[in-house]
Amino acid sequence: MDHLRLLKQCRLCPRQCGIDRTKTKGFCGEGDSLRIARWGRHYWEEPCISGKEGSGTVFFCGCSLKCVFCQNYEISQQNTGYEISVQELADIFLSLQQKGANNINLVNPTHFVPQILCALDIVKDNLTIPVVYNCGGYERAETIRLLEGYVDIFLPDLKYFDSELSLKYSKAKDYFDNAITAIKEMVKIAGKPEFDDRGILQKGVIIRHLVLPGSRKDSIQLMDIIGETFSKDKILISLMSQFTPTKNCNNIKELSRRTTTFEYNSVIKAVEKYGFEGYIQQKSSADDVYIPQFFNDKKVTFFHND
Ligand code: SF4
Repeated sequence: MDHLRLLKQCRLCPRQCGIDRTKTKGFCGEGDSLRIARWGRHYWEEPCISGKEGSGTVFFCGCSLKCVFCQNYEISQQNTGYEISVQELADIFLSLQQKGANNINLVNPTHFVPQILCALDIVKDNLTIPVVYNCGGYERAETIRLLEGYVDIFLPDLKYFDSELSLKYSKAKDYFDNAITAIKEMVKIAGKPEFDDRGILQKGVIIRHLVLPGSRKDSIQLMDIIGETFSKDKILISLMSQFTPTKNCNNIKELSRRTTTFEYNSVIKAVEKYGFEGYIQQKSSADDVYIPQFFNDKKVTFFHND
């Protein structure tokens, strides 16, 4: 449980609050209690992550970004969720594996890295499926390095290049510099993408990018940077069109609509220019039916799991 000492002066994410989370909470809204809002097999990740058996997701509460358009804002910003122990998290990992999940998918894990490492230590001799670190990209390279030997697949967002955009939408002016540095570290740790004979990813990095309404130029600039930074055999790209205005977007005019087909197609062209392999979400997926349901009560959640 040595990892838990990192909570005593928390600098896990670029906010670097430096606070003692056993006594108080930082920007992410979480103290030292491990909190989740949903776990179970999830079928709407990229095909190489979900497959037909599903991805073994665990949704963690709180967030170090708190984006205004977050589709999971109930758990990232509204305290929905419930506390579990490290041992219970370890049991969830093994239960997901037993149910046939293709991987353990840690959704929004950054601020709970110490507890997650403790849980993975408990199951290390019995867990045979890959572990996926599914994050918003706002990471410290130092924290990513702690994951070597624990995480097989990184699934980071790369949300913005423009610091004004990242400040306005995610209160993080330093988003891009931290994200690109962290993603380089992820590529070093995970190496080139490798699949099993069913096409399920076993190791590697998938960079996700959600095309926001009104931000296509920023998206294209990001694709150019990715194209110039990584060779095409090193990473996969997942381009997403599913932006859905939430009630938190009400006061932001450009975020009150969906991304248009013109905006989305122009970013697709930028991805294709560099020949990356990956996934392009269909525009028809932009529907809030894909927002999962979250829970406050452990018993209810366990009941709802498959
Ligand atoms: S994880 Fe939370 S407490 Fe720690 S530095 Fe980030 S925002 Fe602050």
